[in-house]
Amino acid sequence: MQEAMAHSTKNFKVTEFACKCGRFECLHYGIKQELINAVQKLRDLAGVAIFVNSGYRCPWWNEKVGGEKNSMHVKGLAADIWCEELTPEELKKFAEEIPEFANGGIGIYNWGIHVDVRGRRARWDRRTKRK
Ligand SMILES: [Zn+2]
Ligand SMILES: [Zn+2]
Repeated sequence: MQEAMAHSTKNFKVTEFACKCGRFECLHYGIKQELINAVQKLRDLAGVAIFVNSGYRCPWWNEKVGGEKNSMHVKGLAADIWCEELTPEELKKFAEEIPEFANGGIGIYNWGIHVDVRGRRARWDRRTKRK
């Protein structure tokens, strides 16, 4: 059974979450609707623009960019996001308020945060500098 392709929300286009490998044979739009919806909820709560660095990654691209083998990006359940107006710490605080992320994965980096809707709690801090 083929799942319906995810659709855009008020502030996010599905293309923003597409795989960036550029290969013809790539599925491109493997992102799951539940992830986009949760990012939209975060956008509504934060009230500021949120940028998507990485959403769905095909296994080939995931390996290329050094992603973990069982990456939630490959499952279409994750996004790496950042904000001009908020620090990663502040963005993470908002993400903790969204049930899908509170009960999912949140990783903090220098550039922003990783969020995913894996359905169980996971937290990590990969910042190499603190201000
Ligand atoms: Zn790809
Ligand atoms: Zn990520």
